Amino acid sequence: MNIILLGPPGAGKGTVAKLLTEYDGSVQISTGDMLRQAVKEGTPLGKEAKSYMERGDLVPDTLIMRIMEERLAQPDCKKGFILDGFPRTIPQAEALKGLLERMGIRLDMVVNLDVPREVILERLTTRRTCSDPNCQEIYNVKSSPPNPDGTCKKCGSLTVQRDDETEEAINFRLATYLEKTAPLISYYEKEGILKTFLSLSSKETVEEIKKALHRKS
Ligand code: ADP
Ligand code: ZN
Repeated sequence: MNIILLGPPGAGKGTVAKLLTEYDGSVQISTGDMLRQAVKEGTPLGKEAKSYMERGDLVPDTLIMRIMEERLAQPDCKKGFILDGFPRTIPQAEALKGLLERMGIRLDMVVNLDVPREVILERLTTRRTCSDPNCQEIYNVKSSPPNPDGTCKKCGSLTVQRDDETEEAINFRLATYLEKTAPLISYYEKEGILKTFLSLSSKETVEEIKKALHRKS
């Protein structure tokens, strides 16, 4: 399956993407994870992206398209892919459309995760992420906490709050989402491949997505 996950920051795109890869063996492609890795490694691309990311702003479309063209050309994408955090703007969606046409790839569904704003704010401020770039397991201090000493249950590294998860950066990310990313909902509605899921529990949402995919195939 080739799927795009749309939704505001904190909608659970990462969690839903992981569960879907377990279901159909496709690969998860998270531009956020790829960028954070590049920043950690200090690559030229990471250096370019860093300041945008810290203030919760989007990195330039051209930079994202460079990453995505390279990523989608890799052979593992033939198993199907779940795009998590991309596209984020209309120009990115247009560029993706051209890219997929050239590659002869069809999108199966654009999944729009709809989550009330209060739920999002609560989730983002209580989120902790494993600091090991190879793990990046996500925790929530209330619903799925790390070990009592704050270390990761999977790898033992310290879990931390991301730079862009301060209240100020979160408000900026939500405003950016409404301005730049939310227009993609009607963009993909017009393309006839959008499906919206009211998502309060990632697990339940994944079950609904599976049913919807099943009906399509
Ligand atoms: P979120 O929790 O906001 O969905 P992500 O992990 O997807 O976070 O992305 C983190 C940051 O990486 C974003 O705030 C943005 O700066 C940058 N980023 C990720 N994907 C994109 C994209 N497709 N276009 C522009 N910037 C992006
Ligand atoms: Zn870990």
